Amino acid sequence: MLAGVKCTVSNCKYWKNGEHCDASAIEVNVDGGGKAANQSEQTNCKTFYQK
Ligand code: SF4
Repeated sequence: MLAGVKCTVSNCKYWKNGEHCDASAIEVNVDGGGKAANQSEQTNCKTFYQK
């Protein structure tokens, strides 16, 4: 489990009850590419895998 990571994406195969992430590492990117976001809504977890 990734301590300190809160995730609400409950249909990800790494998601565990309590809003935990059970992946060994995650990758987070800017929506649409690039290297800069202006608000949290513009970022996403690339490690997501639908279960
Ligand atoms: S891999 Fe990403 S989307 Fe999936 S549970 Fe972890 S933080 Fe959430």
